[in-house]
Amino acid sequence: MDYGYQRMYINAERVDAQSGQTIDVFDPAFGTVIARVPQGNSSDIDQAVRSARHCFDSGVWPGRPARERERILLDLAQIIRRERDILAQTEVKDCGKPLADALADIDEAAFILEYYGGWVTKLNGEIPPTNPEAMSLIVKEPIGVAGLIIPWNYPFLMAIQKIAPALAAGCTCVLKPAEQTPLTALALPKYLEEALLPPGAVNIVTGYGDEAGEALVKHPGVDMISFTGSLEVGRHIQKTAALQIKRVTLELGGKSPNIVFADTNLDDAVAKTCFGVFWNQGEVCSAGSRVIVQEPIYDEFLDRVDNYLSSIKMGCGTHPDTTMGPLISLEHQKRVQEHVKSAYKDGAQCRAKGTLPDDSALIHGYFVEPMVFTNVDMTMRIMREEIFGPVMAVMPFSTEDEAVTLANDTPYGLAAALWTNDIKRALAVAKKLRAGTVWINDSQPAPSEAPWGGYKQSGQGRELGRMGLEEYLETKHIYINLNRGINTPE
Ligand code: NAD
Repeated sequence: MDYGYQRMYINAERVDAQSGQTIDVFDPAFGTVIARVPQGNSSDIDQAVRSARHCFDSGVWPGRPARERERILLDLAQIIRRERDILAQTEVKDCGKPLADALADIDEAAFILEYYGGWVTKLNGEIPPTNPEAMSLIVKEPIGVAGLIIPWNYPFLMAIQKIAPALAAGCTCVLKPAEQTPLTALALPKYLEEALLPPGAVNIVTGYGDEAGEALVKHPGVDMISFTGSLEVGRHIQKTAALQIKRVTLELGGKSPNIVFADTNLDDAVAKTCFGVFWNQGEVCSAGSRVIVQEPIYDEFLDRVDNYLSSIKMGCGTHPDTTMGPLISLEHQKRVQEHVKSAYKDGAQCRAKGTLPDDSALIHGYFVEPMVFTNVDMTMRIMREEIFGPVMAVMPFSTEDEAVTLANDTPYGLAAALWTNDIKRALAVAKKLRAGTVWINDSQPAPSEAPWGGYKQSGQGRELGRMGLEEYLETKHIYINLNRGINTPE
């Protein structure tokens, strides 16, 4: 399928980049160009920010009755549900993931719109008890124009995960999708218009990070940046935004531990541990890629992981049997292969490998076979750096304390999983793990009603849940002097 040339969206108009330059978009399963999009730069970002600024400052969006804003978000959710098949197909072509996963992403995006739509009419302030001759009103207000920068692993879900709370808070926004995966974001404008979102409330500029993304972060008309992406870029964004004391939320990478105690239900632990590493081709920020297994079950655990690996079906995401698609790009395929080489060089042993797709049509796709490494230790790159590919590293442990020490031995702190049938142990260990999400007897669920975000260098701030909405709000204290005496100073 060829998606042709897709324009950006500024002030409710489909526009080209002012430079006229474009970016090719690839189907990662075949390595072929399937679309072109504008290569927006600082001039385009400036137009988009002005449009968002006008929609905000004029009160067109934030000044609209809450129930009307709620209705628009709920209508948008309905439209997304209606269009789920076409959106999911586009997502598969754009980022390679299996169709079932893409459908789940679209469904969750619709739910997120409903969830935050519901919040619009429930954002109450507070009246704290202060001086009896005065009243303090604590009101929540939208922060203003939000710059939203997203990665390529969940293109549509991430876009909605940021747009929905921004709009619910009363903010307007400029979205910069990842240069690799702009297609589902660019499908949004017609749905936004059908839902009667006013012009300027959502603007979408495609382009590279160091041009369009950088310009969005630096623009003085942007009040906050919500960024999801790599640690390296997140660090750079935080430094740049600091010059304007701009609010920044950061959802960054991870190297999540997965601790398996010997008393667990092994069937469940193996299946979900493997899922937690290999789903979405391992291109998951919270992938539980550091697997720490208690000694008595170490060998059996590995045998069962081998079986799981042989059940993975690699291929084109649109094929109904496919459970693992290609990586996002040639560049990323090389990066993952570099990590694998370094694991061998450091002395890790490849215990098992999955198989590459046997379809000759896919020879130019960016596939990497899933792999399991043993003989690893915490000094190796494979145990310290985010690979963002289907690579599991497994090491044994003996005591609970040792497991916690190994799990926390990382600069990241996005998520952690632990497996045990002992509830007291589960809670004690969960409290000691330095991670924003701890899964007990599970891996990867991230319900949108609960907050998501990282400890340590996995980020700052939270996305999703009520906390995700609060990131887009300012707090104002209005003090009213109620003293009725004449000339009585407060
Ligand atoms: P990336 O940091 O390279 O790019 C992310 C986005 O930032 C893209 O839109 C890119 O164009 C933009 N960008 C790049 N340089 C920029 C700059 N100088 N200024 C402004 N924007 C810039 O990340 P990626 O390779 O697209 O995504 C993979 C990373 O995302 C992984 O590290 C992964 O862990 C992380 N991630 C985190 C979460 C989470 O919830 N914590 C979720 C998904 C992905």
